[in-house]
Amino acid sequence: MANPRVQNFGDTLTIETRREIALIQHASYCQTLSCTFPNCLKVRKLIRHKEDCMVGFEGGCSECIQVWDLLKLHAKHCKLPDHECQVHCCRALKEVRARETILLRIDEIEKILFRT
Ligand SMILES: [Zn+2]
Ligand SMILES: [Zn+2]
Ligand SMILES: [Zn+2]
Repeated sequence: MANPRVQNFGDTLTIETRREIALIQHASYCQTLSCTFPNCLKVRKLIRHKEDCMVGFEGGCSECIQVWDLLKLHAKHCKLPDHECQVHCCRALKEVRARETILLRIDEIEKILFRT
């Protein structure tokens, strides 16, 4: 059976993904009290929730998971220098990503070492 694995990176981002990235970026900057941008108020509420939440995404809080997914999505595609991007947690998430890349490299090195 075919594995329906979806890979939507780079230029092949789906409209849905683009919309989500635009939304989290907008919501991170937006200060308008009665903003009409779709889901802006909802996402801003989620960001505020995440700040105060005692459960957290690690504890399985569905609201935190929602906002983390959006933030991770942004960080993955964010091309701005750290000090220029005001998106919530962008910098921290990029650091995590960099660390994961290093880990991956160590893993690859080990693979090469064990092969010889
Ligand atoms: Zn807004
Ligand atoms: Zn939460
Ligand atoms: Zn960013």
